[in-house]
Amino acid sequence: MFLRALCVASTLACLLTSCAGRPATEGGTLVSAFAAAPAAANPGRADAHDPVPLTPVAWGRLNNPNGLAGRTIEVASLDDLKLREKEVALTFDDGPMPKKTEKILATLDQYGVKATFLMVGEMAKAHPDIAKLVARNGHTIGSHTYRHPNLRTLSFQAAIAEIEEGRRAVSAATEQEVGFFRFPYLADNKSLRSWVARDGMVVLDVQVDSKDYFADSPAAVATRTMNALRAHGRGIILLHDIHHRTAAMLPALLTQLKAEGYKVVSLHRAKPAPFLTASLSH
Ligand SMILES: [Zn+2]
Repeated sequence: MFLRALCVASTLACLLTSCAGRPATEGGTLVSAFAAAPAAANPGRADAHDPVPLTPVAWGRLNNPNGLAGRTIEVASLDDLKLREKEVALTFDDGPMPKKTEKILATLDQYGVKATFLMVGEMAKAHPDIAKLVARNGHTIGSHTYRHPNLRTLSFQAAIAEIEEGRRAVSAATEQEVGFFRFPYLADNKSLRSWVARDGMVVLDVQVDSKDYFADSPAAVATRTMNALRAHGRGIILLHDIHHRTAAMLPALLTQLKAEGYKVVSLHRAKPAPFLTASLSH
């Protein structure tokens, strides 16, 4: 019964996918999880091929879930986003989405960790109560444009209008300042990155792509994510809070992170130094 419900939900989640499309690999910083999974053959790491158990029994083996939370990193600029070995930052894009986002929030609470939510402006506008709940629960707020276009396909002016509209909508819905930004499909370019920085937001790149936008089982997503992470050793993990499979596999992923000694750091947007603000405003 549970499995059937899971299958139906996964199919629905697949239909709702908005971030699917080209598997983003630009910039050369993104680990290809599919390549990493079979080839994560790092002989020095005995756990490189271990599947992630996706059963309540496995989740229950975590005695002290609160030990998973790591430090808070004060991020004034991209340079501050330096993760140490075995540190990860969880990021959820494309929401908020009813039922999925709340479920993810409950799991994060249960494990005592904070994440960063890169909200799509029109989603935040459509679901302001959930957007506020994310902020109230102490998670970090970022934006992800207003309509989730590929900004590389727009004119520069149209692209910055999208970014600004998204930021305003997310800020209005969450009643918080928006200090982080992620490019839809990770489709950036140099001039847009510079503009975002001048506008006072820090671009969040990705080192570990869960590829949870593919219609795989929750267990497959968790295993793929862990394999990519094991190959990388640390990193910002890309997830989406619009998919049932992501919400379903999150307890298993967090349990496995804890079991392998990872720490989930939280990101706090620190104000840049005043002289920097002044020089960037021109
Ligand atoms: Zn997205």
